[in-house]
Amino acid sequence: MAYQTINPYTNKLVRTYPNASDADLEAALTAGYARYQQFRNEAPATRSAALHQVATLMRQEKHELAKVLTIDMGKLIGEAEAEVALCADIADYFADHGADMLADTPLTTNAGAAYYAKQAVGVLVMVEPWNFPYYQLMRVFAPNFMVGNTMILKHSSITPGSAEAFVDVLKRAGVPDGSFTNLFINYDQVGKAIADPRVAGVALTGSERGGASVAQEAGAHLKKSTLELGGNDAFIILPDADWDVVKQAAPQARLMNAGQICTASKRFIVVGDRYDDFVDFMTQAFAKVQPGDPLDPATTLAPLSSAKAKAKLQEQVDSAVAGGAHVAYGNTPIDSEGAFFQPTVLTDIDHDNPTFNQELFGPVASIYHVDTEEEAIALANDSSYGLGSSVFSQDAERADRVARQLEAGMTFINRAWLSLPELPFGGVKNSGYGRELYQLGLNAFVNEHLVLAQ
Ligand code: NDP
Repeated sequence: MAYQTINPYTNKLVRTYPNASDADLEAALTAGYARYQQFRNEAPATRSAALHQVATLMRQEKHELAKVLTIDMGKLIGEAEAEVALCADIADYFADHGADMLADTPLTTNAGAAYYAKQAVGVLVMVEPWNFPYYQLMRVFAPNFMVGNTMILKHSSITPGSAEAFVDVLKRAGVPDGSFTNLFINYDQVGKAIADPRVAGVALTGSERGGASVAQEAGAHLKKSTLELGGNDAFIILPDADWDVVKQAAPQARLMNAGQICTASKRFIVVGDRYDDFVDFMTQAFAKVQPGDPLDPATTLAPLSSAKAKAKLQEQVDSAVAGGAHVAYGNTPIDSEGAFFQPTVLTDIDHDNPTFNQELFGPVASIYHVDTEEEAIALANDSSYGLGSSVFSQDAERADRVARQLEAGMTFINRAWLSLPELPFGGVKNSGYGRELYQLGLNAFVNEHLVLAQ
């Protein structure tokens, strides 16, 4: 497996990175375990300053860091800068609150004086994807650095430049050696790392296939895992929705990051008689975006992350159409060497369509029409995924009632998805298990150590 940056806008090879050897892996495990043992004897607050400095450097170097993302995987430069800014906020959040979140918790019992401490567990393996090449790392790094766990990263083989840039920021911010090591390792070496007794757990974000394989390795060695996998999020428009609010949210809910977001809205479900209006609106909105150089701030449509991702999406759209879907807009090639996929609106996807239960990882919106709130809930839940969802209504009680019936880890009312450091992120069903961010993310890999004194 080669770690390579191929700029998806030019389709040209930028750089190839040498694979790590087994000796490199052993050295990283040794350094990570030694650093974890040191962290165990230090108060979490001693690590706050370095984490704040990570945030400071990221804000100072926002544009340069963003360019690395854009060249690695193609995202629009403005979106790349927003990703860097969000990473800085996550670092500050855990630097500010991590020590308090890790305070001992007293317990009420007649058996004596009891509390539990939240302690580090060891070295973690991180397996991460290309769609948010810094944010995915920061979601795991910031809380676990405060906990005192150390980490070995296996990043996506198409975003090695981002992995190196992230590690470089940590180093310059004063994060001690061994805390977080990037290794360009293959799947076998990931398996070896997971099996190693110094490793306590594994966090993966990516596909169901990758997640199942890594979780199986973890299970075989009795290690904990967290999985953030795909989604097929519903965007439910109830008849009393504020149309302006819907219009404001819907196109970007699908098009941001060229549609390559696990929690992007993918299935738009219109309840009642505004279905045709909505299809027209989405068609017009999708027709407005302009493909171009993602480093140019005027560009509004980025290429997909790779030629392979484009080919896979085209195959899925073709199979949707062969299965009876109607193309309301798009699905025509864009004349460019880049991995562009024209924003596409699909309708008439019935339950037997091969893509009904597939995640389309790109700028393709599927629009459905139902008559009642109950049908909308049933359709939203008729999915093997359960990541995010959105509900639009001007009736707060109604929206909340619908939200609670959705089989999802997150529901957003009158807005598209949102990720902030203080909000937990994660899903149910085939979208994975465990949560990242907020206190729940920090709790993912801690030893809740009971101490009872008679
Ligand atoms: P993958 O799951 O293949 O890749 C994600 C990470 O897992 C990469 O670092 C990859 O390494 C690694 N990986 C995959 N399989 C294994 C394995 N058996 N052992 C060890 N590491 C493994 O996702 P893709 O990049 O191929 O994307 C495909 C689909 O995944 C998308 O269409 C989307 O549905 C979903 N996805 C979801 C994301 C999310 O945010 N939840 C993000 C990205 C993708 P390598 O790159 O070397 O193969």
